[in-house]
Amino acid sequence: MGRRISFAESDFIYQKSAAWNKMENKYIEEAEQVLLHTYNRFQIVLDKGEGVYLYDVNGKKYLDFAAGIAVFALGYHNEKYNNALKQQIDKVIHTSNLYYNVPAVDAAKKITKASGMDRVFFTNSGTEAIEGALKLAKKYAYNRDGVADHEIIAMKHSFHGRSIGALSVTGNAHYQIPFQPLISGIQFAEYNNLESVKALVNKKTCAIIMETVQGEGGIYPAKPEFIEGVRKICDENDILLILDEIQCGMGRTGTMFAYEGYKIEPDIVTLAKALGCGIPIGAFAAKERVADAMVPGDHGTTYGGNPLACAAANKVFELFEEEHILEHVNKVSTYLESRLDKLVEKYEFITERRGKGLMQGLVVTKPVSQIINRAIENGLLVISAGTDVLRLVPPLIITEEHIDEMIEILEKSFIL
Ligand SMILES: *Cc1c(COP(=O)(O)O)cnc(C)c1O
Repeated sequence: MGRRISFAESDFIYQKSAAWNKMENKYIEEAEQVLLHTYNRFQIVLDKGEGVYLYDVNGKKYLDFAAGIAVFALGYHNEKYNNALKQQIDKVIHTSNLYYNVPAVDAAKKITKASGMDRVFFTNSGTEAIEGALKLAKKYAYNRDGVADHEIIAMKHSFHGRSIGALSVTGNAHYQIPFQPLISGIQFAEYNNLESVKALVNKKTCAIIMETVQGEGGIYPAKPEFIEGVRKICDENDILLILDEIQCGMGRTGTMFAYEGYKIEPDIVTLAKALGCGIPIGAFAAKERVADAMVPGDHGTTYGGNPLACAAANKVFELFEEEHILEHVNKVSTYLESRLDKLVEKYEFITERRGKGLMQGLVVTKPVSQIINRAIENGLLVISAGTDVLRLVPPLIITEEHIDEMIEILEKSFIL
């Protein structure tokens, strides 16, 4: 990474068939000239979408089980969603947070109602939601103790984003090392290992941050005894529990928030990805007693909560209700799980299925990037998580027929 990757040397290469398209090649060459080389991109140029399908500039069709990394929950070219955005564009797009705007109030009401939290701060991305959540936890502890030397416990193999604060709580040495020193006072425990958390708790601990279902780290749902045990530790020590629901929230696991599947609530929750379904918006929300630690001057954003982004979030919540998305996810994910479990039975190299709802991972012993490249060739978009997990995070509107189609293409793509 960081240097120019020639087509031949990247192990992520999508082997082009004979019909190498000149136009597509030109776009890719140009992209590598003008964009920072922070990704080994798959060698296709996407052009438009319809429902659960994407089309590249050659018109080739892809069944999308990636959803722009768990973002496009409602499918592409959703007319009601698009119209809501168009209407807002014609009214006002941006106002700044020096004034009030109606879409932000409506979106915050919907988030508080769905999450059980009391107050919301809107951001432009997931990583910024994490930044805000960390600052809020620090401020809460500072108000209580009158000093600012607090520590935060995060999890190994976690992912919380790329800004310095979010990176500091991301338990991945490869991502962290070149950017040190990061923020101090962060300790890493083992996910799903309550004793490892207990061992790190001390008088300075102000927050424990974790994903309710670890995404990038390899699709690990929290075990009930773990997450409920962490909640208890927090309650006993006035430590704040920050649940990162940026990937697993917004209906992906069959409840609006993945923590609804456990007997707990966080003190602070972070959201992004499917919250805007493509329009960049994130949020952190907190219980009143925590949220009120922040006062004017403590935090801010120019774009965050702008009327266009909030109009998107509002429409997403409305469509979730109108189209009974949660019921649909519960129904269709049972089918997805059963089809994936059959693959685990059938293929020696697939060792396990992990996940919840429409956030599923297959652990494979064959090179996952090669399977993904084959799948792309065969017209299916899937992604990886960790080093050996094939990740399936489709739009939440997929049907059993789409799942059958996905399984058929995937099985073809296992032949490397
Ligand atoms: C994607 C993701 C983030 C970061 O969100 P960005 O919008 O990319 O900044 C943080 N936490 C989790 C769990 C994520 O999946």
